Amino acid sequence: MPATAFCQKPGCDRAWPRDPALEVACPTCKAGIGVACRRPSGHTAFGKFNVHADRDISADLAGAYGECPSGRCGLKNKNRKEEASRQQKEAEALPLFNTCL
Ligand SMILES: [Zn+2]
Ligand SMILES: [Zn+2]
Repeated sequence: MPATAFCQKPGCDRAWPRDPALEVACPTCKAGIGVACRRPSGHTAFGKFNVHADRDISADLAGAYGECPSGRCGLKNKNRKEEASRQQKEAEALPLFNTCL
């Protein structure tokens, strides 16, 4: 089966036979497993960018994408990145030196 879905992150070469988002039902438009998302107009939407974002997320939570070997993709890595940048911001907010005035 030729790969039709590719990871969009630069430097990541993972590919799937079909978009892993299709392995779960869409929580937004209720499209079933293997069924493409539907636009409000009723037209079937194809292609990575036409899958509802919530479906992408629930597919990721269901493990449909698997672990990214590059460690850069998926919700888990996104949260980890956000956590890291939040901690960094907190660290930056602290004074570097405690000076007595
Ligand atoms: Zn949908
Ligand atoms: Zn990836």
